[in-house]
Amino acid sequence: MKVWIDQDLCTGDGLCEEIADEVFFGKDDGLFYVKESTGNFGEEKLYDGDAHPAGPDGMARIPEGGLEAVIEAAEECPGECIFIEV
Ligand code: SF4
Repeated sequence: MKVWIDQDLCTGDGLCEEIADEVFFGKDDGLFYVKESTGNFGEEKLYDGDAHPAGPDGMARIPEGGLEAVIEAAEECPGECIFIEV
């Protein structure tokens, strides 16, 4: 399972990171992004030098045991902008 955020809709409230900080994090632009943490996947994935691009280009794998929290984050997200894909 994978997850991504549509930053065009993100309110920047940080609720997702509060629920699942292994997956969600905020950048200096005040918006939130997804990551594949090194603790779960060994290496950060890079796309043309950017480890965490916006939108579906930045789609990250959900770590083992992390799906429930990611689903909760998606359900609670006020921007309704967290998308989970198989
Ligand atoms: S919960 Fe949704 S709206 Fe809030 S920071 Fe995370 S992605 Fe953005």
